[in-house]
Amino acid sequence: MAIRLYNTLSRAKEDFAPIDAANVRVYVCGPTVHDFAHIGNGRAFTVFDVLYRLLRSEYGAAHVTYVRNITDVEDKINAAAAERGETIRALTERTTAAFHADMAALGNLPPDIEPRATDHIPRMIAMIATLIAGGFAYEAEGHVLFSIAAMPDYGRLSRKNLDEQREGARVEVAPYKRDAGDFVLWKPSPPALPGWDSPWQNQWGGRGRPGWHIECSAMTEAHLGETFDIHGGGLDLIFPHHENEIAQSVCAHGGAPLGRHAGHQRHRHRREDRVQLVHQLRRPGRPGDDQIADHRRRRQPARRLVARGIDVAHQARAISRLAQNRGHHATDLLVVFYDEDDFSGH
Ligand SMILES: [Zn+2]
Repeated sequence: MAIRLYNTLSRAKEDFAPIDAANVRVYVCGPTVHDFAHIGNGRAFTVFDVLYRLLRSEYGAAHVTYVRNITDVEDKINAAAAERGETIRALTERTTAAFHADMAALGNLPPDIEPRATDHIPRMIAMIATLIAGGFAYEAEGHVLFSIAAMPDYGRLSRKNLDEQREGARVEVAPYKRDAGDFVLWKPSPPALPGWDSPWQNQWGGRGRPGWHIECSAMTEAHLGETFDIHGGGLDLIFPHHENEIAQSVCAHGGAPLGRHAGHQRHRHRREDRVQLVHQLRRPGRPGDDQIADHRRRRQPARRLVARGIDVAHQARAISRLAQNRGHHATDLLVVFYDEDDFSGH
């Protein structure tokens, strides 16, 4: 049975064919552990959980490797810890535990591998050094930046032109950047913030910390190799995060593609849902089975999953509970949960 998936790289649904059917490899960008997961995060991870189950049913549970990382070093974490007067370690441990509890409440399987960014710093440093040696990155005032001009097809995933790429830069344009769209691979880090020794000298010796994007490139390389099957995340990750992950990995790996299949799912729920936190919505209660049944009658993709022996009822009930607790109709969320644009098996 063919599985068809929407590939953001081609903007088309394609038949999915793994590189190695004995080891189907999926990477989904995991949470930055600085706060509780909101309902949009919960939905995104639940969608990929269903994809994981679908792949396990097709290829066998022993032949699918699902990696979902924990981003435990990032500026948002530092800012949140300072704001709360909490140590960075206490904050990341607390929010990681809350994330795990939320995922369990949603009925999501744990990933096969859950790497933490802070366990991969030497690999990030090695990758950055490779990029500098290859002419894809440069050092400036203690920072190391990726040069977007060095990669001819930079922007292929997001299909943004150069001006849009520059506008999308996450931080104000620093004077040491050659191009406004260049992004940080490594930056200086003072003693009060997380930091590691590096070859790139600054006022604190070589003490620095990685940029967000390089963390995922190092973790995919470590756990899935240079090229894997599916690179997933929310629609908001296409640019700049996934665009930059692709740039770093492809240029560090002599042109080998990163993920063959880029899967992104939409956040189509109502605006106010974005700020609802999963843990606040978890409450014991009777699930809205009638609404789920009604939903299943009307939605083809869900029927197909059930026909394939994938029991998503637990997740459906959990999502339904979230919706009911907020006074929404369960179908509002379930429709997007099973949206054909997420994936489809037939
Ligand atoms: Zn990532």
